Amino acid sequence: MKPPPFDYHDPRTVDDVLALLAAHADGVSLLAGGQSLVPLLNMRLARPEIVVDLNRVEGLDTVAVTDDTVSLGAMVRLGALEHDARVAAALPVLAEAVSWVAHPQIRVRSTIGGTCCHADPAAEVPTVAVGTGATMHLRSARGERAVPAEEFFETIFTTVKEPDELLVRVGFPRRRGMRFGYDEISRRHGDFPFVGLCLGLGFVDGGVAEARAAAAGVAGRPVRLPGLESALLGRPLADAVEDAADAASAEITPPADHHGTVAFRRGLLRTLVRRLSARLEEHAR
Ligand SMILES: Cc1cc2nc3c(=O)[nH]c(=O)nc-3n(C[C@H](O)[C@H](O)[C@H](O)COP(=O)(O)OP(=O)(O)OC[C@H]3O[C@@H](n4cnc5c(N)ncnc54)[C@H](O)[C@@H]3O)c2cc1C
Repeated sequence: MKPPPFDYHDPRTVDDVLALLAAHADGVSLLAGGQSLVPLLNMRLARPEIVVDLNRVEGLDTVAVTDDTVSLGAMVRLGALEHDARVAAALPVLAEAVSWVAHPQIRVRSTIGGTCCHADPAAEVPTVAVGTGATMHLRSARGERAVPAEEFFETIFTTVKEPDELLVRVGFPRRRGMRFGYDEISRRHGDFPFVGLCLGLGFVDGGVAEARAAAAGVAGRPVRLPGLESALLGRPLADAVEDAADAASAEITPPADHHGTVAFRRGLLRTLVRRLSARLEEHAR
């Protein structure tokens, strides 16, 4: 299949991208890794007047690791992220989650900005962004703004990004004393998950002192799981994990579709809570 006709722009600077967005916002599709956009064009589900290619824009593929943050430019490839030793040491959950995304041939093109702006509700990186409490940095000709990941993802394939805005980078906080993990259940490795879970725990004196959790595939966007988090707090993990699994499965209203029933997805989330809790406790020893 062939895409509908469009004008193609190949800018070199962020300012040039922002000028094109300001002039044509509603008619523009930004091309990052193309792993979602190109199929949408070829199936004629996307019909932009203009495609603006981000692949030669300077400064969008920077990885910066500080004591507080792992900052990933929008054009950082998932394949590169998976093998970045600094990121692996600073926030191992990123490489862990990325290893579940599709297959190496797709990850080598896919980008942080693309997966976040495409906003598939079962996607791994957006779920880690919500779970860890990342910040999405947006720019337009009108200025800049920073949006918490929890507010960025609105519903299926929809974010709060305005048509004239470019996502320039995502800042993932390094939360001292917490370790995050990601796990998921899919039909085959590389498929989008039925359910995915990002869980972060911090321990003090054998009890859970901090907990953050977000799930993929259970709503129109990645969602925090406050019931799970509060069921864990202040208790030894082994005592709390079954209550946390109950709380998590009760607080989601997942879709029922040809992949499975509501009860099926609730059961998968319970399993993931148990699996990840055991893994994180093992790390804490
Ligand atoms: C066979 C297959 C299997 C896949 N499996 C998975 C999976 O298991 N999990 C998963 O998460 N993903 C999966 N994907 C999706 C893929 O990994 C892509 O990462 C992702 O959907 C889009 O990233 P991209 O960089 O290719 O973006 P593109 O396809 O280029 O763009 C996607 C959308 O984001 C917009 N966009 C891109 N960058 C920016 C930016 N900086 N600012 C504003 N808007 C922007 C584009 O305009 C477009 O609307 C799969 C894809 C394929 C083809």
